[in-house]
Amino acid sequence: MERSDKIFVAGHRGMVGSAMVRTLATHGYANVVTRDRAELDLRNGGAVSDFFAEEKPDVVVFAAAKVGGIQANIDQPVEFLLDNLQMQNNVISAAYENGVRKLLFLGSSCIYPRLAPQPIPETALLSGPLEPTNDAYAIAKIAGIKLCQSYAREYGANFISPMPTNLYGPNDDFDLRSSHVVAGLIRKAHEAKIDVADELVVWGSGTPRRELLHVDDLASAGVFLLENYDSPEIINVGCGEDVSIRELAELICEIVGFTGELTWDKSKPDGTPRKLLDVSKLSALGWRPRIALRDGLASTYEWFLRNVAPAALSHS
Ligand code: GDP
Repeated sequence: MERSDKIFVAGHRGMVGSAMVRTLATHGYANVVTRDRAELDLRNGGAVSDFFAEEKPDVVVFAAAKVGGIQANIDQPVEFLLDNLQMQNNVISAAYENGVRKLLFLGSSCIYPRLAPQPIPETALLSGPLEPTNDAYAIAKIAGIKLCQSYAREYGANFISPMPTNLYGPNDDFDLRSSHVVAGLIRKAHEAKIDVADELVVWGSGTPRRELLHVDDLASAGVFLLENYDSPEIINVGCGEDVSIRELAELICEIVGFTGELTWDKSKPDGTPRKLLDVSKLSALGWRPRIALRDGLASTYEWFLRNVAPAALSHS
């Protein structure tokens, strides 16, 4: 990849896309093209074709997705399946038709079977049944991987597919109905602290384990893979360590400064019992994460305080 390459980051307003834009800039990639949803609806194939024909990007980072936490995935399987299939089919096919030299398709660790061996190696893909709480999203992502691999096999395209573990960081979704666990618990702990509440309700049993990677580390891995990885085989991106939801909730409360009790709402789903990626393939290439969980959670809480908490207060 050349510093002068024109790089289209699809989904630049989201947590991952915005981190990719920041990280590309710090690595000296100054020719980044973006479009927000009002300018270009990626579900519209004609509009996507026209955009590619006009802009002719050299490189594409596909970070656009309909995403959400466990409850949103249960509530809106149609949107998680259809929006993601439409966006990725349009962008991947237009990228090939317009001579894009390299495309990074961002996957997810939920593509792996619910009861995959831990830590999960890349070879676990399609070796067993998926976790039902996010199978629509997972099927869309698996179809995206297969499309990239098919373009590589049939037409020699250089389309790569990193599989990130659970992510958190700035520009995460802090809406409690759609958030993932970190953003949800940061918001709940903050509001419980402000309200001087006695308790904070956490979903599920607290026993599931999740590996959490700061999105700036994911973006650093993304740029590293754009520069150093040219295989259609999927590659895991994680930090190699996981925590229980109970440990995570306790750590977030400590950082936020909420000192009340944690209570557990067992009517809410636990989801998959454990999701820890085997990151030996990426480690062997020489990439390492830099942001420790405690530091990443603290800086994300700072971001929340500056960007989300004031707006939430002004609406209440
Ligand atoms: P998952 O990795 O696809 O299951 O996605 P999530 O990040 O949404 O959930 C991870 C785990 O955290 C699940 O076991 C949830 O039940 C649990 N959890 C606990 N409290 C919350 C919360 O407030 N929001 C969310 N999204 N998950 C929570």
